[in-house]
Order: sequence, then structure tokens, then C-alpha cells
Amino acid sequence: MKRMTSSMRAVDIIAKKRDGEELSDGELKFFVEGYTRDDIPDYQASAFCMAVLLRGMTHAEVTALTLHMAHSGDTLDLHSIAPVVVDKHSTGGVGDKTTLVVAPLVACQGLPVGKMSGRGLGFSGGTIDKLESIRGFKVSLSPAEFMAMLAQHGIVVSGQSANLAPADGKFYALRDVTATVESLDLIAASVMSKKIAAGADAIVLDVKTGKGAFMKTEAEAEALANLMVEIGRGVGRKVAAVIADMNQPLGLAVGNALEVKEAIETLQGGGPADFRDHCLTVAGKMVELAGKAPDLDAARAMLSRSLNDGTAWNKFVEWITAQGGDRAVIDDPTLLPQAGVVDTAPAPRAGFIAAIDAAEVGKTGVLLGGGRTKKGDPIDYGVGLVLQAKVGDEVRPGDALFTIYANDPNTLTAARKRLLAAIDWSDTAVTAPPHIRQIIG
Ligand code: URA
Repeated sequence: MKRMTSSMRAVDIIAKKRDGEELSDGELKFFVEGYTRDDIPDYQASAFCMAVLLRGMTHAEVTALTLHMAHSGDTLDLHSIAPVVVDKHSTGGVGDKTTLVVAPLVACQGLPVGKMSGRGLGFSGGTIDKLESIRGFKVSLSPAEFMAMLAQHGIVVSGQSANLAPADGKFYALRDVTATVESLDLIAASVMSKKIAAGADAIVLDVKTGKGAFMKTEAEAEALANLMVEIGRGVGRKVAAVIADMNQPLGLAVGNALEVKEAIETLQGGGPADFRDHCLTVAGKMVELAGKAPDLDAARAMLSRSLNDGTAWNKFVEWITAQGGDRAVIDDPTLLPQAGVVDTAPAPRAGFIAAIDAAEVGKTGVLLGGGRTKKGDPIDYGVGLVLQAKVGDEVRPGDALFTIYANDPNTLTAARKRLLAAIDWSDTAVTAPPHIRQIIG
């Protein structure tokens, strides 16, 4: 461990934030650099994150934190590869496999997509965990490999083990297990540091709101979206945000391999309607921001054709195999990791589904083994659940509400109980609220 030479001390910075004071640029630099180098231990970084969560930060603090995190490792300049590289990022949700569809869908329009993704966080899933359920897929890429993939295939998605925003990699895993994920400031810094380090010119932020999101209200989601848009534009990037509902899970599948399968179905022109629509909007904004379509409607029409005619699927195959994934697995999703025990959760009554608490569904996914409860925990790629009904559907007693995929009969029973408790019922017809709530920029 290197010795610290500065007279600054992590404990004083933590105390200052604990007492609600504004941290200086120099203090944030010291903390981020010290933590990245392991001079500052996890327990102090945990206390720092909790102080930030409880006390909040000014816009100047969040911007400084973001930029120090972005510069904690390598930063990429992708202009030697393409004049405009696009990227997207979700603030995290349940059943959110959007990147798996959107990245190839945009890349097949001739727009390079270079993206760094994360692992599951709290009850929300992570793209990197999903991709790792494909045998052979390599998520750790050096900056040189990242650039080479982008140049050759126009698409790359890497995890954070590449030396891009390593500070975020450390904070992210720590926040996951210290109940500090739900800080608007830490989310903004986490997302934007990765985006800035990865070098994209145009970035679409997929900001979730509702029970299964870190931002429970639309007002919080809007504040987060505006903050991230402001940070990105401040460093010269084109940024837009889509605020989307996450009260119920997105699509039907929740669980790593199950979500890969659903993404494959969507790339082949099928898939659940809400998920396809969500992908068309996020990808549409990327295409519009990059100047490849005059407006969102035109972009969506173009992208819809690519889902239906096999172009997006072909790009997905090219991408997955280029990053080492086994073609046989994506051609035949039964070769993805499978759960040993599969059963349903039947409806205990007749009625209309009024709500499905996405956070409870996400936590059930973790309980089944699909997410982590401790930093670095291994995960079970095959487990999860598939919704058989969504908000607004009418069901009869005994109809399957969920199919549960487990590797242990006891967790399956616990999961069934938890999932049934996640449903609110209505005796009268229910209309699902609009999925896309707002588009900023
Ligand atoms: N996504 C991120 O990248 N970081 C967060 O903190 C939350 C969601």
C-alpha cells in the first residue's frame, strides 16, 4: 500500500459531509484518488457514501465527484474510430435487458455503440451479469481491445474491469452492499463517470421511476435526469434522457439467462410489447441524437424494420461471437444455464392485476440466487422468473401468474410466497399507466 503524503485525512472529509458541509474539488479528488489506490479502505468509503446519501451534494460537488471518478483511470477518445459514437445507460431496474437489444439495434444502423456496463446492484439486474450467462463471452476488455472491437464491429460492451472509471467500479460494488445505492448524487456520478470515461459523443440515459427503481417518484427521476444531462452537456456531450416506468418489471423475464432469452426473442422480431416499445424509444433517441434520423418517429420506424428483417439479430450474433460468446448458445437458448426446478405461482383468486411490485420481484430474483447480497458473491445465472400476467390483465383462480426457475425447492417455495404478495388486485378493470413518462432533450 502506498503511503499518503497529503495532510488531508479521509476521516475529516467524511465528518465534513456528515455535518452537511460542501466538499471542495480538492477534497473530492483526494477521496476518489485515495479510494481508487486502496489508500482509503472500504469502511471509510462506506461511511462517505452514507454521509452523501443522508446529506446530499450540491451540483458543483456532484460534477467534481463525477469528473474525478471519470479520470480515475483511462479515458477513451474514440474519434479516431468514428466521428460520432453513441452510448446509453440505464439507472437500473427489474427485467431491464434493454442494452442487449438496443446496442445491436443501433449499431446495425451504422452508428458505432461503445458501452461500459455494470453488474447487478441491489435488487436491479446488471447487463454484465446477463452477458456472462452466455458461455465464453468476455466482459473484461483492455482499452485497446475495447477500441479494436469498436473499430472492427461497430459495437462493444465491456465491464468495468478495464481501467475505465475504476473508482466507479469500487464504489458501485461497495454501495450495493452498504444500502447506499439510492443516492441521487451517487447514481449521477456513477453513471456519468462511466459515460464520460468511455468517450461516447451522444448518450441516452434510461432513467427509471417507480417501485422497482432507485428513484421512486417521477419528480426524483426528473431531478436525476436533469442533473445527469447537465453534467454531460457541461463536458460537451450530447445527452438526452428517457424517463420510464419501473413500477412493474420491464418485459416478462427476470433473471440473467432468462433475460438473454427474452432479448433474443425481441431481436428476432418477437418479445413482449412493452419491452420492444421501450427499446425502440431508447434506441430511437440514440439515432436521433446522433443525427441519423430527423425525429423520434422516423428513428423508431427505421429501427422497427431492423428488428423485423433480421438486421438487428445479425448484428447481435456478430457482437456476441466477436466478444467470445458461443454462437451455439444464442442460436439455441436451451443451452444457456438452466434451473433445476421449474414451477408456477398460481392466482389465488379471480380479478384484475392492479400492480406488481417490481422491487419485490427483483428481491425475489436475488433470493433465488440471481443477484448478490455480499460484494463479489457468485450468482446463479439460470434462476429467475417469468411473469405470466402484467398490470391490467384479468386472471382466473389457478391461472399461472409467474413461472419460477430455482435450483432449490425451498427457495422456490419462499419465492412463490413473496411473488404472490407482490401483487395488488382489483375487482374492476385496470388500465396500465403509460410506460414512457417523459423525454428530456
Ligand atoms: N447504474 C449505475 O451505473 N450506477 C448507479 O449507481 C446506478 C445505476
